[in-house]
Amino acid sequence: MKAIAKVRAERGLELIDVVEPSVRPGHVKLRVEHGSVCGTDLHIYQWDGWASGRIKPPRVIGHEFCGTVVEVGEGVERVRVGDFVASESHIVDPCDPDYLAGLGHVAASTVILGVDVDGGFAPYAVVPELNARPTPSVVPKNVASMQDALGNAVHTVMDGPVEGRRILVTGMGPIGLFAVAICKCLGAEKVYATEVSPYRIELAERLGADLVLNPAKEDVYAVLERLEPKGVDGTLEMSGKPSALDLAIEATRPGGRISLLGLFADVLKSVDFNRIVFKGLRVQGIVGRKMWETWDQMAWLLTEKGLDVTPVVTHEMPYTEFGHAMETLERGEAGKIVLSF
Ligand code: ZN
Repeated sequence: MKAIAKVRAERGLELIDVVEPSVRPGHVKLRVEHGSVCGTDLHIYQWDGWASGRIKPPRVIGHEFCGTVVEVGEGVERVRVGDFVASESHIVDPCDPDYLAGLGHVAASTVILGVDVDGGFAPYAVVPELNARPTPSVVPKNVASMQDALGNAVHTVMDGPVEGRRILVTGMGPIGLFAVAICKCLGAEKVYATEVSPYRIELAERLGADLVLNPAKEDVYAVLERLEPKGVDGTLEMSGKPSALDLAIEATRPGGRISLLGLFADVLKSVDFNRIVFKGLRVQGIVGRKMWETWDQMAWLLTEKGLDVTPVVTHEMPYTEFGHAMETLERGEAGKIVLSF
């Protein structure tokens, strides 16, 4: 079968012939139907500092995918042949005390699918039973493929109160866009967003942001100060821009929360920690998804609460066109790109 892989320690990805994987004890084999391209895949394609330090080629990439179970290994009890499942990218050691304490997403023993071990951008993939999350049939399959990323947003939004609250989301990449939709779905009173790309500003409006502010064109803090003189109840930082962290510290009301998901590529020159202390802000780092509380919350949002994130899928294409997908993402002219296998 043909898989999308990082073969050489340089920019690019290739479609290579690999042996179809065999099921192992405790694992399930999926016929992959859809995969969605993540920023992580773009880093691997670009072979930046993070990717070159972490990835050991050859490596089949892809950690956001869904498909039908075609075979189960010895000892598999929960998942059955014919189940439609989506992948969780963090592979845990089920005996790790951190995992058992609900900290699998940050446990030292955790490895990542498509990064540390071969992933799922191929017609067949084998994953641990735990990582194959059954997905209700009402969830559109292109959305099902994005649940790993959607889970990042669910984890961020639901780690604090949202209903009736005023929330600021900084950065409208796919996870920021998801966060806007989730906040609206959970009954936030107002959702403010920030973004500089006109393409993504329009997407944020389609997903229900009440007001999208453009830091390249206006003084975002001055506008927020006028609209929300007491400050917003929470800021969800999804951009990785140091200026957005400064904005979060100023714009969040005393006693509010700041949830940080964006990774800061630029060195932070200074952060006003005294301002954080005197405002009594709760600042939290968010990574991955809680295993498995986030998946339960996500299923509830998608099935009971009518969460609709389909506008985030801006492109769909066969997986053999991955080069076109990477170039489109590099230009910033996409929300999520979903590949079919
Ligand atoms: Zn991802």
